[in-house]
Parts: sequence; C-alpha cells; structure tokens
Amino acid sequence: MAKKHAAPAPAAPAQPAEADAPDAPQPRPPVQVLYCAVCTFPVEFCEFGSHLTRCKEWLKENHPDLYDKYYSEEALQSKIGTLSLENQAKLDKDTAKKEAKAEAKANAELKKKLASQITIKRIERTKRKHVTSIHGLEAFGIDLKKAAKQLASKFATGASVSKNPQGLDEVVVQGDVAYEIVDLIEEGVGVLKGIPADNVEVVEEKKKKSAE
Ligand SMILES: [Zn+2]
Repeated sequence: MAKKHAAPAPAAPAQPAEADAPDAPQPRPPVQVLYCAVCTFPVEFCEFGSHLTRCKEWLKENHPDLYDKYYSEEALQSKIGTLSLENQAKLDKDTAKKEAKAEAKANAELKKKLASQITIKRIERTKRKHVTSIHGLEAFGIDLKKAAKQLASKFATGASVSKNPQGLDEVVVQGDVAYEIVDLIEEGVGVLKGIPADNVEVVEEKKKKSAE
C-alpha cells in the first residue's frame, strides 16, 4: 500500500530540475498528433482514407494553418515534385535491375554455349556397317530435325532424331560420315552454323567384343 503512494513522487520534481540546468538537454516536446475528425487518420494521412474532400473541408474550417501546410498550392507542388523524383529513382532502379538481369542471362547463355560440346560418334555396328551420331546440337540453337534432314540429303542416306541410351535427343545418320560432318560444321553449312570448331569432338565407339 505504501509503495503505491510513494512510486510517482520522485519523478515529478526531477523534471523541472533538469530543465533549469543550462547544459542539460531540453526535453523534446511530446509529438502532437492531430487526428482527423472525418476519417480518424492523423491529418497528414487523410489522402489514404476515402473521404479526402470532407477531410479537407473539416481541416480548413478547424485548423486553417494545417490546411495550408498540407493542401496549399505550394505544398501540393512540392509534393508532386518529390513524388515524381521518387518515381524517377524507382524507375531507374527497375531499369538497371532489368538490364543487369538481361546481361547476366546473355552471359550465362554464352558461357553455356562455349562449354557445350558437340560429340560426333562413329559407331561400328558390324565390321563394315557404321552409324554416326551427333549429340549436343540443340545447345547451339540448332533444330535437330532440320539437321537430320540436311544430313540425310547431303549424304543420300537415312538420318533421324532419336534418344540415346541416356535419354537425350541426338541425330543419327546411317553411314560412316563423322569426319564429313565435322567439315560441314567447320564450314557452317546449312543449319550447322555458329558452332566453334573447338567444341566438336569425334569419338569412336567400337563394337564390344563381348557382344559379338
Ligand atoms: Zn481525414
């Protein structure tokens, strides 16, 4: 009981003493928030309510100084200027972001291309019969069906798109034409354009002894 009465006592005299001392920091005046009688928001937020016209009328009548502060021609002008500057900054930021993203994407694609390997396999089916498979063309944006058609016509043989044992699409050409295909790629004939020669390798796949 005694405690309850004693508690507020020391706080009260402390304040004036502090304020009297010349070097003591002046206590900040408490923030006065004026709430709008129409929309109940603090008056500087009336625009976010849905009664702005009535809010303004109320403010003009009851607090003309604040009305001028927020809604005078001058206040509106400076506000518009700030807003458009903010928008401008945001737009610039968005644009820079988009550009950086596009650049990163282009770089990633280029890297992928440079790292992509075209593997041309010379596959022995029997002692005298070979097929040639080409893997990795799609990384260079080459349509596999078009490539198969071009090679079939070029070598007057059969060519098709089929899945390799790893489940990846590749072009399979009947016949032993691996090195001819390397030449076509180096010359960039037809659809076989834009592949750096360094990215092409030929591998031999001999028929396994055990399978004979
Ligand atoms: Zn209001």
